[in-house]
Amino acid sequence: MGSTAEVLAVVKADAYGHGAAVCAPLLATAGARWLGVTSVEEGVRVREACAETAADASPSILVMCGLWDGEAADLVEHSLTPVVWEAFHLDLLEAEAGRRGLKRGSLPVHVEIDTGMARQGVAADHRLASLLKRFTPDSALRLEGVLTHFASAEVVDSRQNSAQMTILERALTIVAEHGLQPLWIHAGSSSTMDAGIELPHIAKLALAMGARPMARPGLALYGYSLPLESYGERTSPHRPKLRNDLQPVLTWKTRIVSLREIGAGSTIGYGGTFAARQPMRLALLPVGYADGLRRELSCSDRKPGGWVLIGGRRAPIVGRVSMDLTIVDVSAIADAALGDEAVLIGQQEGESVTADDHARLAATIPYEILCGISDRVPRVIV
Ligand SMILES: *Cc1c(COP(=O)(O)O)cnc(C)c1O
Repeated sequence: MGSTAEVLAVVKADAYGHGAAVCAPLLATAGARWLGVTSVEEGVRVREACAETAADASPSILVMCGLWDGEAADLVEHSLTPVVWEAFHLDLLEAEAGRRGLKRGSLPVHVEIDTGMARQGVAADHRLASLLKRFTPDSALRLEGVLTHFASAEVVDSRQNSAQMTILERALTIVAEHGLQPLWIHAGSSSTMDAGIELPHIAKLALAMGARPMARPGLALYGYSLPLESYGERTSPHRPKLRNDLQPVLTWKTRIVSLREIGAGSTIGYGGTFAARQPMRLALLPVGYADGLRRELSCSDRKPGGWVLIGGRRAPIVGRVSMDLTIVDVSAIADAALGDEAVLIGQQEGESVTADDHARLAATIPYEILCGISDRVPRVIV
């Protein structure tokens, strides 16, 4: 988007499982002037974390999924900026502004346009017009931003991207016709930033109406990107990542807490789904699906599973991943010892296992793997 664009760093879902209390202040200190969260509750936690450990940086915090009855007080109290698209959002905010006697124009809001995702946002027609009529000169509410979200940013030959741009342009025309001049026009996530097609266009639209462009990356901040997709070659086995120069930020590790030898024919874990063909040496790891280690990484006689890294080697998961425990095969890692580190996601002596690997085995996306790492796994900055 060029040097004029601002970056809103998305820290929703506990910073994609990385720990928002850790990541939000780091990002703010590193210069992020905008952070994005899902709910008022998340926003309050992020505001408090920033106040504690990044007191000099006081970022704006965008609550991206609207608000509900009973949340406006916390929202205003903690200076959070809401994304709105329903008349009732404005009702709640106006009522709160009235209770507090807020001055005109002192409560900034961002209006989301539904340009084709049919998830959030107001349609770019008379429905947008009637929302905009609420931003009178006397209102406490101020239209600070207009945004939309792209549905198919990683699909290189999708026609949806340009269709969504056209609708955004129409919406901005309606905004201008109402004599409103938002400070920010924003769109685009990690995938859009890489595809690089829409963002220069958005920057142009923003500058044309005296506003500033902003993009909202999430996943890329944590070192991951989606594979590029193409409708034209959907069955192609080779789907390059949007970017290969990103470094995953998170390492997830545990330790071997028990070791044992089993004989040929023994079965391993719940259901006895894996039987040893020869004597094996097994290591026990105190991690399971309650921590977010996906059960699809289980390995049976019929299906290979995931792996962890021990001593720089791959140790395959054997049997079913259970709630709190996982068994791995260390038969080929002769010096594996009690207390040795086992890497679940990350690198060890040149070998690696990523959230993408887990996602492939669990038939999902890296987002779900990362934000699925549960609360009981401590997050530590290194
Ligand atoms: C989650 C989200 C983003 C960030 O998306 P990534 O794909 O993680 O970069 C941006 N905007 C909105 C509205 C979102 O909900």
